[in-house]
Amino acid sequence: MKAILSSLVQPAFIAVIIAFWWLAPPAWVNNPNAILFAVIATTALIQALEWVKERHIGWRMTRQEFFTDVFYVVLGFTAIDFLTSHLAEDPLKAFKVALGLGTPWIAHLPFVAQVALVIFLVEFGQYWMHRGMHNFTPLWLVHAPHHHITQLNTMKGAVGNPIELFLISLSVIALLDVPLTAVLCAANIGVAVSSFAHANVRLDPPRWYAFVFTTIRHHSLHHSVPYEDTRCNYANSLIVIDRMFGTFRNGEAEVVGQDERKRLSIREQWLFPAMPVIAMVKARRVQPAAGSV
Ligand SMILES: [Zn+2]
Ligand SMILES: [Zn+2]
Repeated sequence: MKAILSSLVQPAFIAVIIAFWWLAPPAWVNNPNAILFAVIATTALIQALEWVKERHIGWRMTRQEFFTDVFYVVLGFTAIDFLTSHLAEDPLKAFKVALGLGTPWIAHLPFVAQVALVIFLVEFGQYWMHRGMHNFTPLWLVHAPHHHITQLNTMKGAVGNPIELFLISLSVIALLDVPLTAVLCAANIGVAVSSFAHANVRLDPPRWYAFVFTTIRHHSLHHSVPYEDTRCNYANSLIVIDRMFGTFRNGEAEVVGQDERKRLSIREQWLFPAMPVIAMVKARRVQPAAGSV
């Protein structure tokens, strides 16, 4: 009975989020702080579950990990959000107006279908971006800092090089006429699913949930130490997309990280894509000195 109840926690989160946005008065939906509060509450609840149902003792939250994670969550809500709005969404909206693109039929779909459509389109784009990051060296260099994390926790999905965080935030939703409530609800569900997929929480959901949505089991496998073992389970929230494109792999990992499993500082995470160039410059400086001895 207890196992059944705990397996229903993740589906219950999604049901509550859908009900919340479906029933939210327009004044709440149009308040720009509403999504912020909803996402903070969702994240805080999942983070609290790490103390109640811990998955691995080695992933236990430390002060250093907590403040790093919070730094990246704040970065996501401020600088990354600003860049996405100004460099991607605004130009896409202008492009939509210039071409006279209209999709008014979306507003006539049932609310849950609108939300599902947004989640699928966002996830479809993220899947290919993420898969590209694991198959194209320049993109891997910006994504690798996310794989250098040595433990998984609720907010770890927000941790990475800022270029990666910008690239992974891109989507085509601004081209469509999706009602704001559905967009916010989809964003809230995306945060809940991907937070659970990184959380140090042992609440294994039912099989149907794990067939459709990404779970910590499958995402921890994506964080395996050998690089080749990371090339599976790319979907941030909808693991069913990996099943569709043949990149799904079953299993789970407890030991996570990359190479020697060295934890990167925030500075190292930001400088990581430039490391080959920095190493080259350093090697050139050393060479003449060695020759002169
Ligand atoms: Zn990855
Ligand atoms: Zn991850």
